[in-house]
Amino acid sequence: MSTKFPEASLTARILDGKALAATIQAELADEIVEFIENNAVEPTLCAVLVGENPASEIYVRNKRKACEKVGMESRLQRLPADVTQEELLKVITRLNKDDEVHGILVQLPLPPQIDSARILSAVSPHKDVDAFHPDNVGRLVQGRPRFLPCTPYGIQELLVREGIETAGRHAVVVGRSDIVGKPLANMLMQHGRGGDCTVTICHSRTPDLAAITRQADILIAAIGRPKFITADMIKPGATVVDVGINRTEEGVVGDVDFTAAREVAGAITPVPGGVGPLTITMLLKNTLRAAEEAVG
Ligand code: NAP
Repeated sequence: MSTKFPEASLTARILDGKALAATIQAELADEIVEFIENNAVEPTLCAVLVGENPASEIYVRNKRKACEKVGMESRLQRLPADVTQEELLKVITRLNKDDEVHGILVQLPLPPQIDSARILSAVSPHKDVDAFHPDNVGRLVQGRPRFLPCTPYGIQELLVREGIETAGRHAVVVGRSDIVGKPLANMLMQHGRGGDCTVTICHSRTPDLAAITRQADILIAAIGRPKFITADMIKPGATVVDVGINRTEEGVVGDVDFTAAREVAGAITPVPGGVGPLTITMLLKNTLRAAEEAVG
């Protein structure tokens, strides 16, 4: 029985994203030391934070802390909530030209006067460590990615490192957002490591969702609705990855009814402690990759 989740039955193996994130961060810390020694360049991530959204403040603080932990330089560019689109574009252009900055992270959401798509497209694709730029999205779809988007990247890494076979498996992704569902579905169907799945994408217009999720060998829930995936929607023995982060009266819960689902699934990610910690870790990995590309 898992000591970290003592209440869990023996039914489903817990996919401990927090532990894996710590392992990958330790690997990264070693790589960063070596990179700095070899290149006399400090990999640097710059976060752009507009306004004072409390959740965004926490996200940016956590990302900066994670940078520090692995020995990476982090910067913060703060801008007032009433910043104009032109002013924000100027900041992005300046950061694009700054050789000391390797990764640029624009914390979302941006205020309503800003066209987010335009801002994300203004970030140099070589510094776009969130992989939101159309150039990077296109490369991903073509199977020759520069960066992989952080949450899907973390999920794929979790599947691979936990020894979950993906080749030939039926992956059902519930959710089609640009940040999670869409890129993850694309990645799972690519050739090679952590890919070669047969993929079905479901969304709010999918009729009889349960009939489809029950066919999944690998079920990914990226919906944003607390405990939406119930045990009867899961094929016995399936791997269940819960991306959801829902703040409820009983605390943070995922999109999967974990307590019931773990009695049916073969392996399952908890919330918190599953996908979340991996997302930040992959942001760091992308920033190191950007720095490597910058020094050639
Ligand atoms: P999103 O942009 O709101 O997308 C949600 C998706 O779920 C949409 O495609 C929507 O379908 C689908 N959906 C909604 N209701 C549904 C229903 N009844 N049946 C089937 N599909 C339904 O959300 P997101 O950004 O992908 O995030 C999803 C969840 O993951 C949220 O809880 C978010 O907080 C969390 N998240 C976690 C991490 C992490 O690091 N762990 C990272 C990102 C997001 P339509 O397209 O038809 O509307």
